[in-house]
Amino acid sequence: MGKIGINIATGSLQKEEMIVGIDLGTTNSLVAMIHPETKQPVVLKEHDGNTLVPSVIHFGENGGISIGEDAKNYLITDPQNTIFSVKRLMGKSYSDIKDYSSFFAYKIIDDNTESLVKVRVEDKFYSPIELSSFILRELKNRAEHILKTPVTKAVITVPAYFNDAQRQATRDAGKLAGLDVLRIINEPTAASLAYGLGLDKSETKTIAVYDLGGGTFDVSILRITGGIFEVLSTNGDTYLGGDDFDIAIVDLWAKQFRLTEEELKNNGNLAQELRLLAENAKIFLSSNDQFTGKAAGEEFALSKPQFDELIRPFVERTINSCKHALDDAKLTVTEIDEVVMVGGSTRVPLVKQSVASFFKRAVHDDINPDEVVAMGAAVQADILAGNNKDFLLLDITPLSLGIETMGGLMDVLIPRNTKIPSKASRQYTTQKDGQVSVKIAVYQGERDLVKDNRKLAEFSFSGIPAMPAGLPKVEISFLINADGILVVKAKELRSGTEQSIEVKPQYGLTDAEVEQMLLDSVTYAQEDIRTRALVEAKTEAAHIIDTTENFLMKNKEMLSEKELSATKASIDSLKQLIEKGDKDQLQKGIDELNEISRPYAERLMDVAVREALKNKTI
Ligand code: ADP
Ligand code: MG
Repeated sequence: MGKIGINIATGSLQKEEMIVGIDLGTTNSLVAMIHPETKQPVVLKEHDGNTLVPSVIHFGENGGISIGEDAKNYLITDPQNTIFSVKRLMGKSYSDIKDYSSFFAYKIIDDNTESLVKVRVEDKFYSPIELSSFILRELKNRAEHILKTPVTKAVITVPAYFNDAQRQATRDAGKLAGLDVLRIINEPTAASLAYGLGLDKSETKTIAVYDLGGGTFDVSILRITGGIFEVLSTNGDTYLGGDDFDIAIVDLWAKQFRLTEEELKNNGNLAQELRLLAENAKIFLSSNDQFTGKAAGEEFALSKPQFDELIRPFVERTINSCKHALDDAKLTVTEIDEVVMVGGSTRVPLVKQSVASFFKRAVHDDINPDEVVAMGAAVQADILAGNNKDFLLLDITPLSLGIETMGGLMDVLIPRNTKIPSKASRQYTTQKDGQVSVKIAVYQGERDLVKDNRKLAEFSFSGIPAMPAGLPKVEISFLINADGILVVKAKELRSGTEQSIEVKPQYGLTDAEVEQMLLDSVTYAQEDIRTRALVEAKTEAAHIIDTTENFLMKNKEMLSEKELSATKASIDSLKQLIEKGDKDQLQKGIDELNEISRPYAERLMDVAVREALKNKTI
């Protein structure tokens, strides 16, 4: 294992090299860095003084893509082609988000499986990773333009509640955007670092970070001991934020002017104008008492007391979450040493007052709340660059560790730069009926296909009881102990059968080789992700064909002639598409087969098939 600073994952880092901090937000994204002279974190600014880039992507008619402020203008006038809130989709399957599908005005593919969601724009399919990479690439380009130097290394922030898959997706998005992602850090940790909390290694502190952004709210309770951050609890609401304030204002105005929902729906421009005016009103009322403004030739007004009444229920919900977070951390209000305010919506005075009065203390709000996370990421980047020696003592994994899954893909269990000792596990399943053994091949590296990575070990895990495909639950766990030894264990959860091996990931690998592997992963990121998407689409198609054919065999009598022939035709064309190997056409084929089978599948789908769709196959 490497020592940060001596060879941060390889010695590839020179001290001079710039590492930026990126806040990849649901609503807004931005970049910060440590100023080379003042040594203080600064946020990168455009000529117009803007620091925030709205996390919105618009797909234009002639293939042009716009990102940020320009794209935001299309939110209501061209909803199908304007992607917002992609962060909510990161690492998610359709079943994770289906209860909220009406929230997204664009088309998310409902493939009724546990595989990762895709977004459809015209005839193209995009993964949330690709969409996020567009935003990251835009940030990278803007940063390079402002700094007049290449920007290739970054620390990216994610919410504390992000799971392994969501973190990995964020890493991949960075890689795809041409960035070497040195570390993924928690947003509340970053915000605390920006305020200098945790930089003094001798102090132990308990911190509440209250983050109210555009569309999401979360509160995290952190404990810092000796410079190490631990998340004690998180709580929140992923569908509550400043956007709700805007909507409440529009609703009030619509009522005053007797505009019906129907009228607003049919007049996209008016709706868009009102939304923007409402946001302006809200922002204005953060430092004034009375707002008036014009839209569509009419005058709209809002007073601060009116606004406060509108948003009070939302604010109360966030305070309720704070209570739950404290309960979960088994703490009382008096045990919180610091409260940090994050997110543009904490500029609202009522929000600030309510939080201060709940925690019974003054809150940290000196740093711009929509910039504080990026600034903290920059502080972390500086630590990684070796400019803050106190922090260089942790052992880390220099390369990602994972196993081979269907189609020769690398499935990472422990990402690079993870502190050791470390543990991770994930469930997999079988691909064929009656399969009693699986091959477990352990790899190290950053590429998407295992053939480009380094094989550490392989063993055949046998003793799986014969069951239909998809039913066995094989849990693979990786444990790296403090000496850097990796123990890989496989266990079939239904029967309890178990097997394990030990490997030394470090063995026989020089720093130069590790560095080359890292460089390659960025160089080939586009190609890798394309190959991965194709392999995944093929696997998914084959799987759906299998499942559907099986289903037809068992349930023939329950289906109409028409359903049968339509399904068979769709299966045949999907089989041809697998041969052809065009990812977008394949996705379309899968989508179509799903649409055809959904009505009767929902009618009949038995537990076994549902189960069969659940786990990834090795
Ligand atoms: P996210 O973390 O979700 O990407 P931000 O932290 O950038 O989002 O917060 C964006 C939200 O903050 C938007 O709803 C925006 O309208 C709101 N906001 C920004 N400035 C103000 C202000 N001065 N007063 C009230 N709300 C504001
Ligand atoms: Mg944020």
